[in-house]
Amino acid sequence: MLAELRWIAFVWQVMLESTLRTIALSTKGFMPEAEGDALYDAASRACAALPGLPIVEVGSYCGRSTVWLGAVARDHGVVLHAVDHHGGSEENQSGWEWHDPEVVNAHGRIDTLPYFRRTMQVAGLTGVVRECVGDSHAIGKDWKQKVSFCFIDGGHGRDVARGDYEAWSPHVEVGGLLAVHDVFERPEDGGQAPHDEIYQPALRSGKFVEVSNCGSLRVLRRVVV
Ligand code: SAH
Ligand code: MG
Repeated sequence: MLAELRWIAFVWQVMLESTLRTIALSTKGFMPEAEGDALYDAASRACAALPGLPIVEVGSYCGRSTVWLGAVARDHGVVLHAVDHHGGSEENQSGWEWHDPEVVNAHGRIDTLPYFRRTMQVAGLTGVVRECVGDSHAIGKDWKQKVSFCFIDGGHGRDVARGDYEAWSPHVEVGGLLAVHDVFERPEDGGQAPHDEIYQPALRSGKFVEVSNCGSLRVLRRVVV
């Protein structure tokens, strides 16, 4: 009996309600299903540990991962700040691997903001998700508030990733979580910038320890100021 209970506790994961999950999964973007669920679970734990503190997402694109995180914010009565200049990362530009011509506007530029807004409206999350449209480094440098949870999924160039780590990791409160997407140990699995410029420096700093992972998602807890 005790063994069974332990097993149930081990596999238990807080899950997003099915309507919103369906909306998330039908939204353009790059967040795999299982990793979105793991993100939701981690953010829920951070909000429970540090009540009242906001959440930040760096890199929202069309709002796919934002649905999982916005629901957490709603359930915990906090705000999710969704940071993105909405001009797309390098790899989203025309001629690159992750280009989607549908998100190019009448002026020939990538603009995911209308898609993002639409996703938040359909998901009923406009009241808790605050658009922060601009450069993530500039916004992070001016940031004043501690956050319970920071999800970094912005640009994957080395300088951009390093800048996101430097601008945002200081704002994670002790006991809060820093989640990093697209962390690949081996170059053959994907670009190394999130691994080399965010994940490794966070661990090396001694301020963060790894608490969970799912696919390319790594979740780190801040343990010291
Ligand atoms: N989390 C999203 C995917 C994000 S893609 C999902 O679940 O699908 C990365 C996003 O980071 C892009 O929308 C791009 O516009 C944004 N981005 C890249 N570099 C940025 C920067 N320096 N400042 C702000 N946003 C940036
Ligand atoms: Mg990603």
